[in-house]
Amino acid sequence: MLFQASSLKERKEFYSKEFNLKKSLSFFENKPKYFAVDFGTETKIIKDKKMDNKLFYFGAKDLKKRLVNYLPEDVYYDRNIHKGKKFCMFCLKTKNYFKCKNFLGQELVFDVDADNIKCICKRLCERCIKKSIDNAFEIAGRLKFNKIKVVYSGKGSHVHVFDKKAYKLNVNERKKLAKKFSRYGIDKWVTEGRIRLVRLPYSLNGVVSRIVTPIEKKEKFKFKNTLPKFLK
Ligand SMILES: [Zn+2]
Ligand SMILES: [Zn+2]
Repeated sequence: MLFQASSLKERKEFYSKEFNLKKSLSFFENKPKYFAVDFGTETKIIKDKKMDNKLFYFGAKDLKKRLVNYLPEDVYYDRNIHKGKKFCMFCLKTKNYFKCKNFLGQELVFDVDADNIKCICKRLCERCIKKSIDNAFEIAGRLKFNKIKVVYSGKGSHVHVFDKKAYKLNVNERKKLAKKFSRYGIDKWVTEGRIRLVRLPYSLNGVVSRIVTPIEKKEKFKFKNTLPKFLK
């Protein structure tokens, strides 16, 4: 099955009929406070053209309604933990989260992008995605943390670390981890903590039309289980 962009009609079908918010939020021990969407920067398939090349942030209220309304290409959650009830403009503007006085920590994430893996395909195929998943499980196995989840992201895989002490890592410690695991094809900016947004599990990756799917056991992963209904 090809990895093609989803149309607005397909996104609408997905978010109104298939997306399960409860299931999505059950992925987390602590529910994210903020979310963000990209309307269609990569595919240029955009409901509201004014939103091209923009990330749009919002709180957790009415998340599903918003998704049905926005029909985004990508949906993200904010992995930063932050004091206060207001969305922090210092963090938004400077991206210097670790220097913000109200910043409390950040979930540690490794983003293994199939683009970073040598493959025979021109763009993306099941082979390089499989390899990215193997790499994610290898990273997970080598980390000295306990609460780790691996997720198929659409074009690769993510390793999420929910241990408290991982949230507390400083920038230098994260840089060391990014270096240590660089050979697995990770995006170092994500591990170093400069990107606060991570793809929301069980949302639709509209670039490739696949459901972002947590993987409990590597052996049990099946591509057909990541297909949205509109491709079945
Ligand atoms: Zn802040
Ligand atoms: Zn490939």
